Amino acid sequence: MKKAVFVYSPEQLGYKFSDTHPFNHKRLTLTMDLLKNIGALDDVDIVPARIATEEELLLAHDPKYIEIVKNAGHGKLSEAQCASYGIGTEDTPIFENMHEASAQLVGGTLTAVDCVMEGKAQHALNLGGGLHHGFRGRASGFCIYNDSTVAIRYLQEKYNARVLYVDTDAHHGDGVQWSFYEDPNVCTLSIHETGRYLFPGTGNITERGNGQGYGTSFNFPIDAFTEDESFLEIYEKAMREVFEFFKPDVVLTQNGADAHYFDPLTHLYGTMNIYREIPKLAHKLAHEYCDGKWIAVGGGGYDIWRVVPRAWSMLWLEMTDQKIPTGALPQAWLDRWQPEAPVPFIPTWEDPNPLYEPIPRKAEIEEKNAQMLEKALHIIRTEKRS
Ligand SMILES: [Zn+2]
Ligand SMILES: [Zn+2]
Repeated sequence: MKKAVFVYSPEQLGYKFSDTHPFNHKRLTLTMDLLKNIGALDDVDIVPARIATEEELLLAHDPKYIEIVKNAGHGKLSEAQCASYGIGTEDTPIFENMHEASAQLVGGTLTAVDCVMEGKAQHALNLGGGLHHGFRGRASGFCIYNDSTVAIRYLQEKYNARVLYVDTDAHHGDGVQWSFYEDPNVCTLSIHETGRYLFPGTGNITERGNGQGYGTSFNFPIDAFTEDESFLEIYEKAMREVFEFFKPDVVLTQNGADAHYFDPLTHLYGTMNIYREIPKLAHKLAHEYCDGKWIAVGGGGYDIWRVVPRAWSMLWLEMTDQKIPTGALPQAWLDRWQPEAPVPFIPTWEDPNPLYEPIPRKAEIEEKNAQMLEKALHIIRTEKRS
């Protein structure tokens, strides 16, 4: 069995709103090129992403919505006609063949699921996926179809698996959470910048699930300006306790890379350190609890030049037990992409230290996050569930 497969098809690059839209899957090209440059990604590691079938999309989406997406992408609908479906908006504009491209991202996550569940690989990565804001009948926050929701239902139906979904994107993983809010056999864990000032506004610790699913939804909203140490303290404690509580058969991690200080859409102060540590612990716990079954997807990440390629490379390196490099990035990669990049690259795997001016409210933010963690985990620390 392979350690891991890298799921990718060039068709995934067709998920493109415009040249100026912040969501830009050129990130996939930049990441793969960086990995190939250091000899860490070989063509034999790459498995093509299939396209999700209509039946599979229906696991998460309304038929009417799928029809709207298809027609919009084929030039048959005006913006006004799809606005109530979240399509043709400023966040999620219409683009040609948007159904086909979106279904290819979902298909990639399903390919990753099959590789792991059929025993072809212990772990699988689909960086094109992670579109966690997609709703049953509505697009939201750059996300059309929700690949993780489809994949988790698919894992339930085809493999009868108990799934833990972990979302470290800086935005709340709302779409996936609401999909399984009443389902006791899917646990969702999201660490994100508090929704007080940031899209989508949800992800409060009091969102714990409903009905049978009460107690299987976990939210860890952290303060704006949270730095590495506090982020990782919350992450590590949350992960260990939720894994131990839920004991999943398989873990699906969403790896948005927008909690970095450079990210233009959020206000967290993470550095490359968190992107080295996040996959390391997910990997360890997947082996401890899930016999290694770990599927990882991408997500947000809007500094596509300085942040995402390094962050996502470390995810793949971790999955394949390759040493995380230190020091200089390959010169060939820098030379190839610097002319196109609007900002100077960070030329090393690590960020410069310090990356930013010290924060005056550091202690207060750490304290607030620690208190939040206590409250969020209180339910599994005190209540015995049968
Ligand atoms: Zn995000
Ligand atoms: Zn492993």
